[in-house]
Amino acid sequence: MGYPKLLEPLDLGFTTLKNRVLMGSMHTGLEDRRKDYPKLAAYFAERARGEVGLMVTGGMAPTWRGWLAPLSSSMMFRHQVKPHRLVTAAVHAAGGKICMQILHAGRYGYHPFVVSASSKKSPISPFKPKSLSAKGVEKHIKTFARAAALAREAGYDGVEVMGSEGYFINQFLAPRVNNRDDRWGGDAERRRQIAEEIVGATREAVGSDFIIIYRLSMLELVEGGSDWKEIVDQARAVEAVGATIINTGIGWHEARVPTIATMVPRAAFTGVTAKLKGEVSVPLVATNRINTPEVAERVLADGEADMISMARPLLADPDFVRKARDGQADRINTCIACNQACLDHVFKNRKASCLVNPRACAETELNWGPARSARKIAVVGAGPAGLAAATVLAERGHAVTLFDSADEIGGQFNMAKRIPGKEEFFETLRYFNGLLDRTGVKVQLGKVVSADDLVEGRFETIVLATGVNPRRPEIPGMDHPKTLSYVDVLLGGAEVGPSVAIIGAGGIGFDVAEFLSHGEENPSLDRDLFFKEWGIDPGFEVRGAIEGIERDLPANPRKIYLLQRSEGKLGAGLGKTTGWIHRKSLRDRGVEMVGGCRYLKIDDAGLHLEVSGEPRLLEVDNVVICAGQEPRRELQDELEAAGCTVHLIGGADVAAELDAKRAIAQGTRLAATL
Ligand code: FAD
Ligand code: NAP
Ligand code: SF4
Repeated sequence: MGYPKLLEPLDLGFTTLKNRVLMGSMHTGLEDRRKDYPKLAAYFAERARGEVGLMVTGGMAPTWRGWLAPLSSSMMFRHQVKPHRLVTAAVHAAGGKICMQILHAGRYGYHPFVVSASSKKSPISPFKPKSLSAKGVEKHIKTFARAAALAREAGYDGVEVMGSEGYFINQFLAPRVNNRDDRWGGDAERRRQIAEEIVGATREAVGSDFIIIYRLSMLELVEGGSDWKEIVDQARAVEAVGATIINTGIGWHEARVPTIATMVPRAAFTGVTAKLKGEVSVPLVATNRINTPEVAERVLADGEADMISMARPLLADPDFVRKARDGQADRINTCIACNQACLDHVFKNRKASCLVNPRACAETELNWGPARSARKIAVVGAGPAGLAAATVLAERGHAVTLFDSADEIGGQFNMAKRIPGKEEFFETLRYFNGLLDRTGVKVQLGKVVSADDLVEGRFETIVLATGVNPRRPEIPGMDHPKTLSYVDVLLGGAEVGPSVAIIGAGGIGFDVAEFLSHGEENPSLDRDLFFKEWGIDPGFEVRGAIEGIERDLPANPRKIYLLQRSEGKLGAGLGKTTGWIHRKSLRDRGVEMVGGCRYLKIDDAGLHLEVSGEPRLLEVDNVVICAGQEPRRELQDELEAAGCTVHLIGGADVAAELDAKRAIAQGTRLAATL
């Protein structure tokens, strides 16, 4: 299938973009220090070679008061221009185009110098902002124009002015934060004045042949956000003063509605961009959860937008566009929207990468070429660790056989992909299936491999990627027929009754609760159901698109208890950007979460336990054990005794705090060195 709309050039008058793909701004952590700019240049150059039409950097503050965190990325002075030239030169040499995002964090800044439209503190930063004086606002407007002029000096093709996601400009636009009664507040016209003046001053500073993207908050998802008329008026105003392109912003960071996590249906929010079409004449960009060329093409073909913004999908596969053009869309390493290695890292002040592509942001150090001498290598276990290792080893010229006892590749991902809201995990298996084929890995499924098999096979090197065994806690009654393991439930098709207790509230306990609390309907696959579940106005008319909208929660067919021994919040170890969604959606479905449990026994009556010292009986039909995992590496000793060279990766190496991010990265890194 071709993608004529996605690959169609876009003429902006003074310059032409080679296609309709915009790589949306994403902070990687490489922007903050000068020494990391060669890495940042390599990261963007690789995406330019992959034929992305236009890219946008992570946000640069125009003034120190607009920092995201102390000393984070900024563009305030001429001496800051030089390292950016590395980025722009590398991108241009690779035939790409790049804009610098100007981002003033306002009250989202994580430092004591934050300023905003008022002194209202945001729920996601401990720092109370100083309300800017009218003069202060004027000074701030000038800093945007100065940052844009410096961006031009640095060789950028344009800038993106960040007007959404609840940052500084957005804080002036919406009555949620702006309670001023001077020329910068009061009615909608005065609230949007700052956006207009920033874009106007920026245009004046950069001239007419420079791209200005304005990121407009089209769907705020907070009480006191803008209403539809205000959004249209704002779009017209920024167009009139010089915006070249209007990009879509979805949701303030403080919104309690998921906007990019994997349970958000693909292209869930493109309707809002479509609604703005016809109100302005500049190109409009649709965004959020568009992760395949098919979906992107459909959005464009339906006339919902003129361009598609993708950020994480291009972290996952820098060659996304080139593969789509070459008729190789099935070879794209699809972003599964897990946030685990990108946003979760950035929110913890760690450099971003990607769960499915550990080379993301490591382009200068994680590379491989042909092996010095080709070897015969066995990889045992076709879970994420084994798949990554086998395919990189084969790419390097080794003769690789990949074994798994299951009838399909994927290991635990075959359970993960069955969880409602985790359907994307299937894409990683589709990707690896194709890659195994292309790299010539010999795949042997459906047989438990023994040490003897491997010794007889005369493998020079053996990689054990045998994963884990579920932990069996010592609770009296573990053999009772009502006791099941998560594997029985997710893979074995075990019947689960209408009341169930889940022992263990880690990632898998939460996922099993999600699996058991779903009926026939799956809001992750259906935009209308998703909007009903989270209370979003499908017409996008009301303030913030949520004010006054009742939520319509999907029915839960079971009474579920989710239990852990430790006191405190359940799911504390879940992802920083997604844990709250799991907790909220399970609570909303009536799942009872109990900490401080001591499990006494399981019998016909149910699960007997003490909760914070008090005895309690949960009269449940089933008890599902999700109590963590132990490494599975029984082959290691025998193989080593037989003189084989053995390497352990993934769960077979360390099961504690194992996730697919570590499994894939460890498999890749080992294979790059053998
Ligand atoms: P595994 O995936 O366990 O694979 C090991 C493979 O080895 C298995 O296929 C097994 O059949 C095979 N094997 C073992 N012994 C032999 C033998 N002797 N012969 C032949 N084959 C053998 N992680 C995340 O990062 N994000 C998530 O959102 C996430 N969600 C999850 C949801 C669920 C429900 C589950 C169960 C797991 C989830 N995980 C998630 C965890 C993730 O899947 C694991 O961390 C990852 O699969 C570990 O990879 P691995 O390759 O080390 O082992
Ligand atoms: P886990 O996160 O380590 O959780 C294990 C749970 O079992 C904890 O709640 C623990 O809490 C409990 N537990 C441990 N030992 C126990 C015992 N002896 N008896 C009773 N309870 C016990 O492990 P997991 O849930 O099996 O997940 C495995 C890995 O997969 C995780 O490391 C996770 O990163 C990954 N995963 C990630 C996601 C995701 O969304 N990112 C989803 C699924 C899985 P108490 O000790 O307090 O009881
Ligand atoms: Fe996508 Fe997950 Fe990679 Fe982030 S870490 S880019 S969400 S696959």
